[in-house]
Amino acid sequence: MTGTNPGQTLLILGASGDLTARLLLPGLGRLLDSGGADGLALLGAGTDDWDDERWRARVRESFGTPGERAAQVADAARYLRADVTHGADLKRLLDACQGEVIVFFALPPSVTAKACAALREIGVPARTRLACEKPFGVDAASATALNDLLTQIVPEAQIHRVDHFLGKSTVLNILGLRFANRIFEPLLNNVHVASVDIVFDEDLGLESRAGYYDSAGALMDMVQSHLLQILALLTMDAPPSLHAHEFRDRKAQVLRATSVWNDDPVGFSRRARYTAGRIGDRQLPAYADEPGVDAARHTETLAEMVVAVDTWRWAGVPFRLRSGKAVGNLRKEAVITFREPPRTPLGLTGPERPDRLRIGFTPDRLDLDVNINGPGDPFVLDPVTLGSEFGPGDLPPYGEVLRGVIDDDPTLSVRGDTAETCWRIVEPVLAAWRADDVPLQDYPAGSSGPKDTLLP
Ligand code: NDP
Repeated sequence: MTGTNPGQTLLILGASGDLTARLLLPGLGRLLDSGGADGLALLGAGTDDWDDERWRARVRESFGTPGERAAQVADAARYLRADVTHGADLKRLLDACQGEVIVFFALPPSVTAKACAALREIGVPARTRLACEKPFGVDAASATALNDLLTQIVPEAQIHRVDHFLGKSTVLNILGLRFANRIFEPLLNNVHVASVDIVFDEDLGLESRAGYYDSAGALMDMVQSHLLQILALLTMDAPPSLHAHEFRDRKAQVLRATSVWNDDPVGFSRRARYTAGRIGDRQLPAYADEPGVDAARHTETLAEMVVAVDTWRWAGVPFRLRSGKAVGNLRKEAVITFREPPRTPLGLTGPERPDRLRIGFTPDRLDLDVNINGPGDPFVLDPVTLGSEFGPGDLPPYGEVLRGVIDDDPTLSVRGDTAETCWRIVEPVLAAWRADDVPLQDYPAGSSGPKDTLLP
């Protein structure tokens, strides 16, 4: 245990998994070394026949080069072998925890559901927090069923649905940009904004994750979860404070007002799958030929949809959400495109480029595209970009969201009703895709994906 706190235990179910090694533990290590998570003990659990030493080696490896606090926690970490779908095993794990318990479900979703059912039967100590990973269900009905199950174990305030995008410093910076500056917020409405793009394209292909990805696809993996959270931060009204209930109420309000553009999922959604191609010096096989992929499932590796946010502020502004894998032209940004001002009456000529505010998520940047009188003819405008790149936050995204879980602050967690609302938004698109009303397009890996725009 670190520090003088009476203590709490982070119980990671799924200790040997990919999420635990690649994201959770590195985030925890940084959080500890930044002075957070005072009094924390770490208990790992899984079906593997590991002992404490084996688990500690995994923890140290994932911590990277830990400082004193993280090294202390790694050296004291314990591991118990358990099948977490069995109540007796879970009881043994809970009994081994010191102080308050935080159960982190780093498990496949079907196993999480069974573990929750078992926890409901055996009960948990008071003040136990549950931390769940996306996907929160696979549709609105299953999200509701999962929420019902979770709230039979602990109250909603003790449930943390983790969306690590909400821990990204640039995503959180949307709040500062909008609500701590005079110049942008008055323009962010349907009088001044023509459209908004929220794009998260990545150059990685499947990366051996067929087991998870082939049953999810880009819409569920990225759009339904992360991109709708970004949309909420971009469109919500200023909360009276950043207390969890105020902040999450505001997000919930705009998401409740969000739906597929024109209620037309066929006209305003797109799905595509990459074929073989090259990205830099990497040759990628076609998605359909990747090991573990069932080509007949028609899983999309690129998803796009246009939504409306039907509020007084945003009605009439199309929001295009898109995410693709194996895309050559990397874009990870939200772009707010402003309406053209009436400049012809003044006889000003120049580029037909609208003003744009671009919030880059990787790298973390802010750019403002404007037209000004550059060199030469003062009545001919030149496009310029005022931009700044800023460094990463103190903590990686998982460190930031873990801080919320450990400090019992659900501000950055996705509330249960919001998880259900996000499914309600994408369900018409999923239904149109299942009915084959929207064809599955192809794009070569390394290309910039399908070209024509879906924007109305
Ligand atoms: P993995 O398959 O890599 O890991 C799952 C873990 O669960 C393994 O350690 C496995 O242990 C354990 N497990 C499975 N069944 C049981 C059981 N009955 N009792 C005890 N342990 C069990 O999955 P990921 O780590 O990739 O994903 C975990 C969750 O995180 C999923 O919900 C996923 O959607 C989410 N997520 C993952 C991300 C990632 O990048 N990996 C990113 C964002 C979210 P064993 O193999 O020994 O059975």
